[in-house]
Amino acid sequence: MQVPAIERSLLKVSEQELVSLNFAFEQMSMPLHTINYDYAVWDQTYNYMKSNSVAAKHYYEQHEYPDDTFKSLKVDGIFIFDNNNNAVFSKGFRHSSDNQKLQFELMDFLKHPEYILLSPLKKNTLPPQKLSFNNPSNVPSKTGVIATKYGPALYSSSSILQSNRTGPIMGYIVFIRLIDEEFMTELSRFTSAGVELSEVKASDDVSHIPYLGSGFDLTKLAPTSQRLVRNIDGRPLIKFTLYHTNSESPSVLGSDIYILLAEMWILLLLAYFLYSYFLVQPVRKLAIDIEEMDKSREIKKLRYRYPISELVNVATHFNALMGTIQEQTKQLNEQVYIDKLTNIPNRRAFEQRLETYCQLLARQQIGFTLIIADVDHFKEYNDTLGHLAGDKTLTKIAQVLNQQFFRAEDLCARFGGEEFIMLYRDIPDAPLQHKLDAMLQAFEDLALPHPCAATATHVTVSLGVCKVLAVEGFEFKSAASIIGRQATLAADRALYQAKKAGRNRYVKTSISVDEIEQLEYESPSNHP
Ligand code: GH3
Ligand code: MG
Ligand code: MG
Repeated sequence: MQVPAIERSLLKVSEQELVSLNFAFEQMSMPLHTINYDYAVWDQTYNYMKSNSVAAKHYYEQHEYPDDTFKSLKVDGIFIFDNNNNAVFSKGFRHSSDNQKLQFELMDFLKHPEYILLSPLKKNTLPPQKLSFNNPSNVPSKTGVIATKYGPALYSSSSILQSNRTGPIMGYIVFIRLIDEEFMTELSRFTSAGVELSEVKASDDVSHIPYLGSGFDLTKLAPTSQRLVRNIDGRPLIKFTLYHTNSESPSVLGSDIYILLAEMWILLLLAYFLYSYFLVQPVRKLAIDIEEMDKSREIKKLRYRYPISELVNVATHFNALMGTIQEQTKQLNEQVYIDKLTNIPNRRAFEQRLETYCQLLARQQIGFTLIIADVDHFKEYNDTLGHLAGDKTLTKIAQVLNQQFFRAEDLCARFGGEEFIMLYRDIPDAPLQHKLDAMLQAFEDLALPHPCAATATHVTVSLGVCKVLAVEGFEFKSAASIIGRQATLAADRALYQAKKAGRNRYVKTSISVDEIEQLEYESPSNHP
């Protein structure tokens, strides 16, 4: 996010480096101009130009321009021209050497017509390199860069006047300083960045390169910037290459960091994928399986297809635990719905089944028959043979009655005490009749002795039977449980009738759903 801001700052640094290159070049050109001016606007030189004395001229030349002057002034060539551009004095000496004479061709206007432009009075046809010196004196002068056979050089030329800057102009002095290695070293000291110089050949395409002193505003970070300097005739002569110190974004923002970040992302994604595949998803799957089991209240075995062994372990133990729970639930259910003494379904089981039957009757018009069995004279039995014997007999009675029920939807339950209650779903009259007869017959066949019953010598039962009839197309609006209640009451009344009629028999009654809907709640009557 900070890259644009950082790049902008780096761009500013690069621009500053360009400004300092420009400044450095001006600074290094300035002394040449100053000393050139000092020698040109000086009575000694003026008189030298005016004088006709060979000796005086010789004295001036020898005295003012010995080799040491070149060294101390850092000048490599000094040329004096009269107003007709005739060279009156010329000397070349490499100031950085001990004794290297230089033979400039500045006076050879035939070979180098552009040299004539060194005259401060000659107007350049093309603009020379503009160096921003102040020239307060109005003394005609020129500065810039010029090609020489020793390479590019700075030049400065000033018109010769008296020290008080009065005329007439007596010609001009040209000072040359070669832009050599020493010059470049010095130049680099001004710029914090490295600078290289190369000469522009005629074949070089430099049209895209700006001139020194312009193009300070950079738009793009680059490792280098190039700037041209013109020859005296306006052609590009030299090219500076400036090596920027901070041309590249810091390494943390470079392409390496992006590659590193991309690799880290891939690693992170991979880690997440593995984590998700091997841990999160299996655990989630396991949680979903358990949750579904919890919702459906149905115990199912968990799958073992988990990619990690710990989860397979969990599933194995969970399944074992579920198996135990399943078994215990089954036992608990059985205990809840089974009568402890007789081991047949109890009243709770009966009521649940009755509820189902009532709903079937109310919604689907499927009828059922409800029978209540009551042991005859059982109090006396207990009183005579004892309660334990009574229990045993009750168990046998339960078994006898229960044997008459084969279908899963039919039910024989202990109602309480020595009473049993039974349900047949949708049983026609004839088979019902047969079942009832079979029940009474079964007790006769069993022939459990009853020592003191008035009815018979063996244990007998009386049965109250209520057939609950569906009515085609009748819509039962009350709660379904009312059917059960009314059916039980009706069966109980029938039982009472059976007892009253002499016991060891059954009395049948029937009730239809539309009658039930009419009936008001009646409290159960006590039979004898
Ligand atoms: P009835 O023919 O009119 O039905 O006469 P009964 O003596 O059978 O009727 P009653 O209601 O007077 O007596 C029921 C007896 O059943 C009372 C009780 O001693 C006996 N009884 C009830 N539950 C049990 C039981 O769980 N075990 C035993 N041994 N006897 C029971
Ligand atoms: Mg009873
Ligand atoms: Mg009884």
